[in-house]
Amino acid sequence: MTIPDNVQFATDPAQALKNLFERKNYSKVIVLADENTRRHCYPLVASGLPTSPIIEVRSGEAQKNVTTCVDIWQKLTEQFVDRHGCLVVLGGGVLGDMGGFCAATYKRGIDFVLVPTTLLAQSDASIGGKLGIDFNHFKNHIGVFCQPTLTLLHSGFLKTLPPGELRSGFAEIIKHTLISDKAMWKQLIGRELDAQPWDLLVKHSVEFKTRITTEDPKEKGLRKILNAGHTIGHALETYLLTHGTRVTHGEAVAVGLVAEAHIASARNLLKAEELDEIAQYILRVYPRIVIDRETEEAICQLMLQDKKNRDNKILCVLLNGIGHAKWDCEINVEEVKNALMFYQTL
Ligand code: NAD
Repeated sequence: MTIPDNVQFATDPAQALKNLFERKNYSKVIVLADENTRRHCYPLVASGLPTSPIIEVRSGEAQKNVTTCVDIWQKLTEQFVDRHGCLVVLGGGVLGDMGGFCAATYKRGIDFVLVPTTLLAQSDASIGGKLGIDFNHFKNHIGVFCQPTLTLLHSGFLKTLPPGELRSGFAEIIKHTLISDKAMWKQLIGRELDAQPWDLLVKHSVEFKTRITTEDPKEKGLRKILNAGHTIGHALETYLLTHGTRVTHGEAVAVGLVAEAHIASARNLLKAEELDEIAQYILRVYPRIVIDRETEEAICQLMLQDKKNRDNKILCVLLNGIGHAKWDCEINVEEVKNALMFYQTL
């Protein structure tokens, strides 16, 4: 699998943008950033931009809503951006999803360039064409599928990323290797977080996610394997965040990967030593999360509401040996409780 034409790895992101704008002749180029990416990432691309106004929004998932979109559409309108304009989105997954959504809907769609600046956005969110915003308490409830003109990847952005954000994004890379590539998994567990070869791992994730999303763009089947670790992980994340415990998405997904691996192992899909390897590595990288009885019950209740479920059945992705996965596996509450107990007693 090769990298698609609209994805580029750049050692000099400013030069890469300059080349694009020389080719495209846009009527106007506008940059979307948040306070962190404006400060840390904008200087790395500024010299490649024509005189471009910057729209700055506040960082964070809480801003990924229609109110911020109205603000962005308003600024595009005030700047007289026409259908031949281009929005350069400089940020993590929040800005990528929301900025892409604003561009894809403004005047029925203008070109946009994603410049993902977090590990999660580079290895996952910027690939596959899913764009959108949260609505009330529903995550990614409103959105569209639309591909950017260019996704520009540059590992230099990661140097200023807070360690917690790096660790969070790493969970998606762990997931990608676990479900697709045993050899890469073996390489990955030989290194601590701060010694990982990010260029290589991001490229691997991009190639893998591109292959999956090209084959199944609208998540009818195969694309569901990208939900590995997320059935239990997402329920845990939702419960903890609504009960005042700060947890990153990646920390919750890491627990989900261990717990779901336990279910796979109990069904003889995964060898005991493979389960042990996964659990031990994840505990080396991620802080242990305490899951008491109340949390366990709440996770099971939340899983019954998972939007991937069908006919009241909890559907989950299970590893089928490291490097392979099956989707739409029905699991029951008893298996989830046993899996969470396994995680607790590690
Ligand atoms: P994020 O976008 O909130 O970024 C995390 C924090 O890092 C923010 O405070 C941001 O300002 C800061 N930051 C970004 N780049 C920086 C840099 N280089 N240096 C210093 N600080 C920097 O979080 P995220 O984890 O990147 O993205 C999470 C979002 O991604 C969620 O909304 C999720 O729904 C979405 N997502 C989308 C897809 C998809 O397929 N579209 C897939 C996975 C996740």
